[in-house]
Amino acid sequence: MNKDTDNSNKTVNKNTSKKAQKDLSLRERMMAQLQSSRFRFLNETLYNNESRQSLKLFKEDPESFKAYHVGYQNQVERWPLNPLDSIINAVKKMPKDYIIADFGCGEAKLACSVEQKVHSIDLVAVNDRVTACDMAHTPLLTDSINVVIFCLSLMGSNLADYILEANRVLKQKGILKIAEVESRFDDINTFIKALETYGFEIIWKDLSHNLFYFMDFKKKHTINRMDKHLDEIKLKPCLYKKR
Ligand code: SAH
Repeated sequence: MNKDTDNSNKTVNKNTSKKAQKDLSLRERMMAQLQSSRFRFLNETLYNNESRQSLKLFKEDPESFKAYHVGYQNQVERWPLNPLDSIINAVKKMPKDYIIADFGCGEAKLACSVEQKVHSIDLVAVNDRVTACDMAHTPLLTDSINVVIFCLSLMGSNLADYILEANRVLKQKGILKIAEVESRFDDINTFIKALETYGFEIIWKDLSHNLFYFMDFKKKHTINRMDKHLDEIKLKPCLYKKR
């Protein structure tokens, strides 16, 4: 092989690898954008539809649930705190014989982090700990749970169904813990008053964080879904910006 050929080959190789690098990063950027659009689409779907429709969507396409959670974890990493960590710390301080229900548990991190028995509920079971079902209608027994948790999971246009289900499964004086994105609330007092009509009394709130609201309610009485005095429960969807 003469020097020229050798050199020319080197130039070609160098150019090819530069081009490959450029192509790869373009492909990577495209993939990242596609993933992010898919996450935003799924997130919007979850907020703007009834849960039975979201359940159907994920049943038909479980891959999209995984895509949603990859996007969700990316989002969590941008927050100064993960509200789930605050919930985990609170549960750790509770009696060890408490039975917890984590409604919209995601990957069931709570169940892995505490000693108490946790029923982890989500639309899709990403692992063995999770029971796949719509939290509007769970298989949990009536009056069987000490604490129901909604951590960033009040999604869907039928929020009242979730609160009614929480009321059904909770024991008398059971605790309902909610962590939600602050910007979803038009007026926190309207939300608290609405929950009172579902048999819940506010016992603690922390509204001091920039991004999240934390609230604890106590179950005062059992509510029948036919009760006439139930207020509408409405929160704005939490839509993420295109990046
Ligand atoms: N609580 C977890 C996950 C939050 S993401 C955490 O803090 O890390 C919100 C989760 O709520 C998603 O996994 C979504 O699938 C779930 N979810 C939303 N609506 C639901 C429903 N109707 N039934 C069960 N899970 C639901």
